Amino acid sequence: MNRIGKLYFRYGTMGSAKTAMLLTQAYNFEERGMRYLCMKPIIDDREKDNVIRSRIGIERRCEWIYPTTDLYQAIKKHCDQNQMVFDWILIDESQFLHEQQVDQLARVVDEFGTNVVCYGLRTDFQSRLFEGSRRLFELADTIDEVKSTCSCGRKTIINARIDGQGNIVTDGAQVEIGGDDKYVALCRSCWRNRRIESANRNAINFDAGLTLFT
Ligand SMILES: [Zn+2]
Repeated sequence: MNRIGKLYFRYGTMGSAKTAMLLTQAYNFEERGMRYLCMKPIIDDREKDNVIRSRIGIERRCEWIYPTTDLYQAIKKHCDQNQMVFDWILIDESQFLHEQQVDQLARVVDEFGTNVVCYGLRTDFQSRLFEGSRRLFELADTIDEVKSTCSCGRKTIINARIDGQGNIVTDGAQVEIGGDDKYVALCRSCWRNRRIESANRNAINFDAGLTLFT
């Protein structure tokens, strides 16, 4: 294969318009008659429409990636059936890929010369790398940060999980689907301050509870 593809990782916090960028890219590929495929890991079994949807209201059909999907085989099958190779593959929510699936994408890049662009979060609500993101940092040819700004003006780093009262949640499962109601993108400094505030508020509530019993 003479073509040289690249594996890209474009990461950012929630709300940094990664999905809108992906969809804009898909639109441009379509305009230029390029062969491309949009894919996304399925994280919610209740999801019926296989579309990638941006909060600004645009969407595009995609193929689901299941936890058991072998991405190399799945993409190869497409190519064999249609007697072609993809120019581009665009993947949303790539933090949810398994390590092996990122390895399979790297093989697609190297064997077919296809460009694969993975959009995703760097870290979870506890500021730890997701499995897919870690592997992408390890293997990607090109890594770009999609920047967005915290309310204080600094760059957002953390996807903080919040409860109904806006308190920072520090324990729980790594994956919990939600939007603005459950997550807020913060800079590291605001994240620390908000955790201290939340802890203090809980402490006050706890003391208030105690006084009822004394
Ligand atoms: Zn901040």
